This record gives sequence, structure tokens and C-alpha cells, in this order.
Amino acid sequence: MTERRKIIFSFDDGPNPAGALSTILNTLQKNLITAEFYVLGNEVERNPSAAKSIVTKGHKIQNHSWSHPDLAKASEAKVYLELEKTQKIIKKATGVTATKVRPPYGAGGWPKKHDPELGKVARKLSLSIHNWDIDTEDWKAPRGIGPNKIKYIKKQLSGNKTKTVLNVLMHVQSETAKDLSEFIKILKEPGFSFAKSIS
Ligand SMILES: [Zn+2]
Repeated sequence: MTERRKIIFSFDDGPNPAGALSTILNTLQKNLITAEFYVLGNEVERNPSAAKSIVTKGHKIQNHSWSHPDLAKASEAKVYLELEKTQKIIKKATGVTATKVRPPYGAGGWPKKHDPELGKVARKLSLSIHNWDIDTEDWKAPRGIGPNKIKYIKKQLSGNKTKTVLNVLMHVQSETAKDLSEFIKILKEPGFSFAKSIS
């Protein structure tokens, strides 16, 4: 049976390391995949050209806070500072205004359980809050998307039948960059396709 569901890749914690980012961008380009990148403001400040490359390669750049704190535990003032500063640096580095926020650790970002301060600030900054559907756990040792992770990913994919578009969470890191080509092949086997455009 062919899957009719689509996949959106999202990569958190970029744009650094720049080497990993550039490998990821090349692999996506080869496979004609458009993805989302939830970046950290402090890394955009240190490496604006890497942030810019996300946009010039046709991907969406979005807000993942300035310094990766737990926003569900932060005061409204702190949440505002983290998100607003990041909006500004993304705009400065890329010319793009981010429209989505993914809170670090997903904290306070699950639908129907949005953290109230995060919700308020997101509205103020015209950001919608987004977590993910499929966790690759690529950040867990051994890092990357090796065979030990694939089993858990496949279980999540077959367990989630309600959504037609599934957002798959990964991170900008060298091990994930290395495994990405193979991971794309594995996803294509059961017939998943990749969303062509992302709002
Ligand atoms: Zn993160």
C-alpha cells in the first residue's frame, strides 16, 4: 500500500555548526526538499551568512529563541526578550521576518497546552507556535539517524495515522548531516512524499 502522507523536515538549533548546515542544505537540494530551520538568535548573530544561506537555498527560517532556555518556566518579559531579539537578528541577517516559533524542548508549545506567557508573546510578535509530530531523537547518543533510531521513527510514523502532513524533527549537527541522504531513502520506501511548499 502506498502512503499518501507527506513529510516536512524541520531542523532546530542552527545555523551553527556551519559545516553541518552546508551538508544538510546540499542534501536537501539534491533531493528537491524544502525544509524549516528553527534557528537560535545568538547563533545567527555569530554567523549571519549561514543564516542567510538557509533562505537563499529556498527554505523557511523560523524562531527557536535567542539562547535556548525553557520558555515555559520563563517570565513573560524573558520570553519577549528571547523571541523579539531573535526576530530582529533573523530579519537583519536574512531580510525575512519569521512567522513561526518552536520553543526549546517543545516546552509550552504543545497544542491546547500552550504556555500562557509564550502564547501572549507569540501573538504580540505575530508568531504561531509549532512543535513536531515525529521525533528522530537525533540528539541522543549515538547522535544522528542511525539504524537504532530508525526503528523508533518507523514506529512513530505508523502510529500517527490521523495527520496527513507529519513534521519530522532533526537538529543541525554533523552526525545528522551525515545520515540525512540515507534517511531520505528510507522514508521514500514506504511511499512518503515531501511537502513541496511550506507555509
Ligand atoms: Zn532546540
